[in-house]
Amino acid sequence: MGGIGASLRTILRACAAVLLVAASAGPAWAEQTDGETTVYLRPEEAVRLVLPDCDDPLSVRTHALTDADRAALEEKLGRKLGESSFTVHTGLRKGKAYGHAVIVSEVGKFKPFDFIVAVSPEGKVLDVAVLVYRESRGGEIARKRFNRQLVGKSLDDPIRINRDILNITGATMSVRAICAGVKKALAVVDRFVLHAAKDTAGAAPSEEKRSRPLVPGRVLATPPTRGPVTRGRPAMGTLLTITVDGLPAARAEEGIDRAFAEVERLEAAMSLWRSDSELVRAVARAGREAVPLSPDLFEVLALARATAERSAGAFDPTVGPLVRLWGFIGEGTRVPAAEALAEARARVGWRRLQLDPGTRTLRLDGEGCEVDLGAIGKGYAVDRAVEVLRAAGAPAGVVNFSGNLRSFGPAPPGPLAVAGGWRVDVQHPREPEAALVTLRLDGHAVSTSGDYEKYFVQDGVRYGHILDPRTGHPAREAAAVTVVAPTAALADALSTALFVLGPERGRELLERHHPEAAALFVVLDADGGIARVVRVGPLPEAAR
Ligand code: AMP
Ligand code: MG
Repeated sequence: MGGIGASLRTILRACAAVLLVAASAGPAWAEQTDGETTVYLRPEEAVRLVLPDCDDPLSVRTHALTDADRAALEEKLGRKLGESSFTVHTGLRKGKAYGHAVIVSEVGKFKPFDFIVAVSPEGKVLDVAVLVYRESRGGEIARKRFNRQLVGKSLDDPIRINRDILNITGATMSVRAICAGVKKALAVVDRFVLHAAKDTAGAAPSEEKRSRPLVPGRVLATPPTRGPVTRGRPAMGTLLTITVDGLPAARAEEGIDRAFAEVERLEAAMSLWRSDSELVRAVARAGREAVPLSPDLFEVLALARATAERSAGAFDPTVGPLVRLWGFIGEGTRVPAAEALAEARARVGWRRLQLDPGTRTLRLDGEGCEVDLGAIGKGYAVDRAVEVLRAAGAPAGVVNFSGNLRSFGPAPPGPLAVAGGWRVDVQHPREPEAALVTLRLDGHAVSTSGDYEKYFVQDGVRYGHILDPRTGHPAREAAAVTVVAPTAALADALSTALFVLGPERGRELLERHHPEAAALFVVLDADGGIARVVRVGPLPEAAR
């Protein structure tokens, strides 16, 4: 669920749905997403996609834009540029330049997508490959069949849609963006390499040779060596994306690596799927004795229990048997029989969860109890990742864990920013392409719970994955609830709780216990249509 730059599940989906279509190459690792293979590449690997025959080592030069560079590029392109530098990778063969590659980002409909353009020493496009595509539609622009049309173009050739290249129905914004990005890459290579202008002399490019071996498992990201660095990696069954701004790329990457390691550590502790996770082992024993917990697990369970108490059980970390019965975990989804429902309900109840802060131990009262941190664990992990990034010296960034997102520091100018903070679009729960509202995050966390990620339809009724523990059935008041709060763990827990409670009781909960938080409810009518949008509390909305 969730995203930045354009969409929160939107980013929810937005950030989450980082689709990396430039598969073919190299080791790295791959993740299956909706039947498509997602492969993350390091920049050097991305260069190999479009300059496959070059010898090692590649030369890499980052050109910080002087005022003169910016003015010249903007004049050539007829538009403003948000970048402060460009990195040109030059592929060498037998010591001679054989092609230059630039990784660029452009905003498609809502979100920035990243692609790489290779340019020949004669200034013509050799190849184009989309690296990270974030929109839910329009991904056809990543296909070779489409990109081939751009090969051979040079800076002075027109690239007009439907005249010089074919449009793709439904993807016009992305087609336009990729054409604009190709022009930008051609202009960059022209200015900094092919006709290196005298007025660039003041800004000596930084040069590095890269002959490091590729490290499988270290994943790509996007932009060049200055400016925000973004990398993604699968964790807790979904995608974790981290953006760091304000550090040299190597240090940003190091910080991101540490944050990934922290999330891995938490996943190992909180996973339901690993029989050796601390949670699974503790739950197995806690029916018989008080089990000591690590500080992290204790803290997340304590917040889960407090949220259960404050929401009068709408949020319930012991809801696992019901989630399993409806098939959202384990076997296929179905509407369960009444007896099975009664049996599962008898095993659910947050009061069974006994936490003793003095001894930091857990006890579970009663038989067959399960503990599921699916509605809070990702948010908690986001908070810990932000801590690690700050400790690594990152002045600004965003951690986005499938719709649970937290920002810190100022947003860099460009597509990730909006006046007053980081731009996060909240996805419309029924129109994946549309943003419901745009938020500006300034140190806030945001989380969305929705009925559109995991659900099934039976006899015309939509059954979503968030259950009302008091009925045993999926909660039906809302299609989506977005919560903005000071921490991601709280936003995550509250978005699930408010999804079950609906706007009236949700408002009471916030006013009573969390006046610092705000919420946006997309409320359903009796037929499952969207009735209205309700805002509660100080929602940091951006002007649109
Ligand atoms: P989220 O997307 O954060 O709202 O979390 C939804 C997940 O939490 C579901 O997929 C279930 O695993 C679990 N869950 C479902 N209903 C509840 C509930 N009422 N309270 C706590 N967790 C729940
Ligand atoms: Mg949640």
